[in-house]
Amino acid sequence: MPVNQLKLENKTWLENIREIRSFLKGGQIDKSHPIDQLSDAELEKDLNRISQVKRFYERWEADPNFKQEFLNNPHQAVRRYNMNIDAEEISLLQADAIAQKDATDTDTDHTPISVKRYREFYRGVKCDMSDIAGSSTDARFKAWRERQMARCSSQLSKSLYDEILHMTACFELSKGCSVGCWFCGISAPRLGDIFTYNHENAKLWREVLELLKNIHGPAAQAGFCYWATDPLDNPDYEKFCSDFYDLLGIFPQTTTAQALRDPARTRSLLKLSLSKGCIVNRFSILSLKMLDQLYQEFSPEELTFVRLVLQNPEAGIIKANSGRARERNQRKAEKNNQVLDDSLPGTNACVSGFLFNMVERSVKLISPCNADERWPNGYRIYDEGTFTTVDDLKILLEGMIEKHMPLTIRPNERLSFRRDLHYESLPDGFQLSTKFKTHKFRNDPYIKQLGEAIQKGDKTATEIASLFNICGIPSAYIFQSLNLMFKEGVLDDEPK
Ligand code: SF4
Repeated sequence: MPVNQLKLENKTWLENIREIRSFLKGGQIDKSHPIDQLSDAELEKDLNRISQVKRFYERWEADPNFKQEFLNNPHQAVRRYNMNIDAEEISLLQADAIAQKDATDTDTDHTPISVKRYREFYRGVKCDMSDIAGSSTDARFKAWRERQMARCSSQLSKSLYDEILHMTACFELSKGCSVGCWFCGISAPRLGDIFTYNHENAKLWREVLELLKNIHGPAAQAGFCYWATDPLDNPDYEKFCSDFYDLLGIFPQTTTAQALRDPARTRSLLKLSLSKGCIVNRFSILSLKMLDQLYQEFSPEELTFVRLVLQNPEAGIIKANSGRARERNQRKAEKNNQVLDDSLPGTNACVSGFLFNMVERSVKLISPCNADERWPNGYRIYDEGTFTTVDDLKILLEGMIEKHMPLTIRPNERLSFRRDLHYESLPDGFQLSTKFKTHKFRNDPYIKQLGEAIQKGDKTATEIASLFNICGIPSAYIFQSLNLMFKEGVLDDEPK
């Protein structure tokens, strides 16, 4: 979907909503949709209702006390938590039906109209960047990203895998983060320097974006301006995002834990973001107190397009076992003489591409993985370097692409399977498994022996092919099979 075609400048809130709905349907306003048949006054009323239901769901997920109180006495709970919803109609839902807040297929004749409206509304409000991220015009980068995804498909659980968009780039606009969350999955250091929007930095910033556009084409849009940083630590964040929009045609999505630091600024960022067509932003909620304050500061309507990431302990969201959370889990396990729980999600990294720190003028080529001793922050670092000018950067990025992203197996590369795969010989081939997935290779007369040769891990592709030449199997066949395995992400490409 061409996200950059959504233009909302200088429109009223209601016009924006109509534009967004129309946009999400590919430019056609579907007059049969209940929301689009409404007058402005009715739509405003409906939006109020939808945003109130959103607030109900957020409180339900964040606060077990509210949940219990609502189950015991819906009217009292709704009054006490200052909600403008019809307690009677929502209480008709069973607790498990409330929990399935996005599941339109569970709607029945008894589903309250406000909940139906809520579900209808949010069904379309999501911007899936994965297609954009997958559209790099550099065939080597595109194939490399696909291999990283293939690798992740057997390293991560299906639910975690589905969440990761493998964005092509992210940019730290400061060094470190002022928030200091105990669970930070990427171990953000304390806030140090900030990349201010002065003449020199703005020029470099725009040049970097242009360079990425030249490398990736539209896939350069699949980026965002934070990582081990909070965007609102940088007072010029909005200026950088506006350049991003001007040059790449998309306003980057924001996730911040500092929505309350300067509410006027937050409000104007939300307005700017929506006006440029960025439909979903996210606020991290670190405590119930913060949730209460957010609700006092912002109306339900103002947060219609803000997803709350409920990190408060009461919400019980499982934190990725990486970075600082992993260190804490390790300390706890050691104290109790236990082994680290490996059922926890091992990463919250979402970039297979370039991680920039604009303060240091550094860049890393990264991709998600389960955190371990080698990659404690839940992402592999394939390469890294620093630059002074965009010309340096161009050479650096081209070098990384050339070195790490071959389109096919390199003849002189020593081959082995990934260290996390369990190898088993089959009567007609072999299989490689993790607890999440099994890759089977079979049905070619030589495939079993080929698997054994790779499993030994002591030969290059050419050397392996020559083993089979003796039996009359041409190298081209062997390379075809090796390239299939390469594409499936089962061959080891972990940085040495
Ligand atoms: S989780 Fe985000 S806000 Fe919290 S310390 Fe890490 S980077 Fe900062």
